Amino acid sequence: MTSSTTTGSAAGAGRDEGRAEDLAVSVRGLKKSYGALEAVRGIDLDIATGEVFALLGPNGAGKTTTVEILEGHRQRDGGEVSVLGHDPRRGELAFKQRIGIVLQSTGVEPYLTVAEVVDLYRGYYPSPRDIDEVIEVVGLKDKRDERVLKLSGGQQRRLDVAIGLAGDPELLFLDEPTTGFDPSARRHAWEMIKNLQALGKTVFLTTHYMDEAQYLADRVAIIAAGAIVAIGPPATLAGREQAATRIAFHFPAGAPAIPEELRGAPEEARAGDTMAAPAAPNDTVELRTTDPTRALHKLTSWALDNNVELGSLSVTRSSLEDVYLELTGGDEVEGVS
Ligand code: ATP
Repeated sequence: MTSSTTTGSAAGAGRDEGRAEDLAVSVRGLKKSYGALEAVRGIDLDIATGEVFALLGPNGAGKTTTVEILEGHRQRDGGEVSVLGHDPRRGELAFKQRIGIVLQSTGVEPYLTVAEVVDLYRGYYPSPRDIDEVIEVVGLKDKRDERVLKLSGGQQRRLDVAIGLAGDPELLFLDEPTTGFDPSARRHAWEMIKNLQALGKTVFLTTHYMDEAQYLADRVAIIAAGAIVAIGPPATLAGREQAATRIAFHFPAGAPAIPEELRGAPEEARAGDTMAAPAAPNDTVELRTTDPTRALHKLTSWALDNNVELGSLSVTRSSLEDVYLELTGGDEVEGVS
């Protein structure tokens, strides 16, 4: 555990203490059990107004339970929850009018056009957003008068988001917004979410994609077995920026043994371990170091002195995926950063 890791302490909940009125979401000690199963075990969370926040976690970690409690769709067993200043469990109309929810799929009338669907949902809200603005934000301008049944899967998903935006919510919950998208549709969806942020919306996102969280979120929280195990900006999550850098290359055929002194370059014991075994031609040699500049200098000097090519040389920082896997015990992830 590092300084940016929390396991449920109320202090800070992963960010500097902001003023209560700047917080879109504030959660303290949230608990929820299903019979003997403690699905959410006392979590703390603060989300600032205008922030894009991503909740990551393996299947069954407690994401849906948490999000649905915040949305007012599930009752909690304990803890304090404030969403836009409301306690969601009261189910107040004023609260429902200020949030937008995009579920994993929304069943909409297939014979209506995009504009008609958006207008239908606008009718449920006191101050809806302009139809064409909504359609533009989600990138469906060209499909404005197209019937829903003629939209592609990705376009229908964008329409789901348009529905979530129809009431001009201050806070939008997006549940796995790009699951099943092709790479280009994902990029479009990401731009759309960036547009939402530019409009000043707060976005609470759940995702299984590390690259999505990395690209979109100001902060991410990793939840595992009902507890938040890390929270912070993706670039520095759980001390990621201080973690060892990985240098990898294919050991060249005919090259002399890697010199002893290279073992001394990395501060990490693991690097010494890796380099201790004499590499066979075309083995991938992996070196971990907290001083990549020096280690690379020594390595490339050795390669140049010996006129050998370091095949597939790569230098990679500890990824969000590495952090995620470490904190969640190696559950599967999709997408890499
Ligand atoms: P996924 O990524 O698979 O959607 P999740 O992180 O959203 O998972 P939850 O759906 O919150 O996880 O579930 C947390 C735990 O609570 C799981 O073990 C799940 O089986 C259990 N659970 C969720 N809802 C119920 C319910 N209505 N009744 C009983 N157990 C439930």
